[in-house]
Amino acid sequence: MENASKDAAIAKNLAAWFGRAARDLPWRRTRDPYRVWLSEVMLQQTRVDTVIPYYERFLARFPDARALALAPLDDVLALWSGLGYYSRARSLHQAAKQVVDEHAGVFPSSAEALRALRGVGPYTAGAIASIAFDAAEPLVDGNVGRVLSRVYGVSLDARGTEAQKVFWETATRLVRADAAVPPSVLNQSLMELGALVCSPTKPGCGVCPLAKLCVAHRDGLTEVLPVMSPRAKPKPVAMVAAVAWRGGRVLLAQRAAQGLFGGMWEPPLVEAASVAEARSRLSAFGLDAGALRLAAKAPVRHVLSHRSLSVLVARAPVRSAEGALPSDVPAPYERVAMVDPAAAPGGVSSLAAKILAAAPDPEAPLVLTAPPKGARKAKKRPGNS
Ligand code: SF4
Repeated sequence: MENASKDAAIAKNLAAWFGRAARDLPWRRTRDPYRVWLSEVMLQQTRVDTVIPYYERFLARFPDARALALAPLDDVLALWSGLGYYSRARSLHQAAKQVVDEHAGVFPSSAEALRALRGVGPYTAGAIASIAFDAAEPLVDGNVGRVLSRVYGVSLDARGTEAQKVFWETATRLVRADAAVPPSVLNQSLMELGALVCSPTKPGCGVCPLAKLCVAHRDGLTEVLPVMSPRAKPKPVAMVAAVAWRGGRVLLAQRAAQGLFGGMWEPPLVEAASVAEARSRLSAFGLDAGALRLAAKAPVRHVLSHRSLSVLVARAPVRSAEGALPSDVPAPYERVAMVDPAAAPGGVSSLAAKILAAAPDPEAPLVLTAPPKGARKAKKRPGNS
């Protein structure tokens, strides 16, 4: 089958399938570019069921780009807290300001103008342009690349630039292949097929609307395609965190706005293999580092895309009884304060939450709660954890 007629058949089959099988997701009930943008940014690296409550809370607080642009960054980060990849939240905030300052609060509709917004790359620009404005713009993410690799039999390394070029060219042809299939439907159906049917392992070819058109299915290559070069393993990094409680507050340091966990608050963390090695650097945060004691033998583990952190958690008293803290603290931090962690401006990162859980406030009242009725009888079911 020629490319053009194969493309048209794929577009037609995808659109028909999407009409039957699409999930009812909150961001699918709208064409508002602000909401489409927000959902796409939140969904990067994060599962749909995790995103839904964040998406709804965020919209309740910041219903449009203007509300987001006017908000303090700390408020934005606080609502993002726990979702990870905080640079996304900072970029959202910056881009909302651009929409207000450069576009009078109205989202641009062209992919080119969208790409000029902070944090908006080709994928997100294609998503907003096609889903909100039905512009015939392509998009390629991991799911779409996998589907295209299998359907068209692309055997290049899917992480390489050559394969990416082929995927983007193919996605461009597809989104323009059938005038009767709106770009919003074509792009979302490709993403949905990758998420629901054409999964990384054991794709559901038996129920796939593209089975008769798919090279990988025809040639028995579904376990071979897409070809993926191995990712570099995250580099192990040993760290020590110091947790100092006093009067229901804990000493937290705020990271600089740029970089890992930018703008977030956390117990001071330094790269060190032991508490002894960390002492002198932790003393710069106003702690009595000489009194540092391990809170737990087992380190807190936290895996990021490029680094695998192993954090020893130690307790220490605050040095000054009067509460005077240093005004100048070592990078990557900008300031230090005694903070109620539940009300930290900007919120605490998920790593900080793990560290605080390993060394909770020793003066916090012990709360005893009865198990919910029937809890003892409940049996653990697969997928119920
Ligand atoms: S037929 Fe199988 S491999 Fe091909 S697109 Fe469908 S699910 Fe993926």
